[in-house]
Amino acid sequence: MNIDSRNLINYFQQVVEMIEKEKDHLSELDRKLGDGDHGVTMSIGFQAVKDKLDHELLDEEDCSKICIVVARTFLSAVGSSVGPLYATGFLKGAKVIKNKRTLDDESLTKFWLAFVDGVKERGMAKVGDKTMVDTLEPAANILKEEFEKTGNFIEAFQYAVDAGRMGMESTQELLSRKGRSSRLGQRSLGVIDPGAASAYLLLNTFLTSLNSKRGI
Ligand code: ADP
Ligand code: MG
Repeated sequence: MNIDSRNLINYFQQVVEMIEKEKDHLSELDRKLGDGDHGVTMSIGFQAVKDKLDHELLDEEDCSKICIVVARTFLSAVGSSVGPLYATGFLKGAKVIKNKRTLDDESLTKFWLAFVDGVKERGMAKVGDKTMVDTLEPAANILKEEFEKTGNFIEAFQYAVDAGRMGMESTQELLSRKGRSSRLGQRSLGVIDPGAASAYLLLNTFLTSLNSKRGI
């Protein structure tokens, strides 16, 4: 499957809408584990992105430039931990799709693998630390494995989203070891990590935006 700059902009527009719907839920998770701002933070970041999508990026055809503007805008709008984490993910993704106006199965796979690498490099969290990496790393592993088998991005990405959901759910059973919630110790048990939840939503929205393009 090929996607172009319009499809990518459409994805980010859908993320903007999804975050508005999930904002209270994400903040509620963060109230139990951190300072309660995760939904608000994501909303501030993606509302700033929306302004770029509606103006500066309206006619942009280079997919990597779209990701660079999204990353920089998100970073400068957001003050908390997720700012540099997601911004590095999108910047690293942009690097592997440099100058591309359309993204084929291989570029899409490389993009999401680079996105996950970027988050991991920036945050240095490991699976089991109760962060977004618990969603992203298993998703990336399955994406790579399935894509190598079939060469079909959308099928591989469906498996990746499922693995990401399981990873997100696994954070309920984990003690937090990174970020603010690490100070809570045992009290962090039983709650899904807010960043693991937003990371899952970013992936799942990509899948739904591709499926709506395919008319599914
Ligand atoms: P803050 O903790 O600064 O208030 P947010 O509430 O917006 O930031 O985001 C918190 C989320 O950031 C956590 O739920 C966790 O998933 C993620 N996070 C924090 N530190 C790291 C890290 N070092 N690596 C990966 N993810 C992290
Ligand atoms: Mg917070």
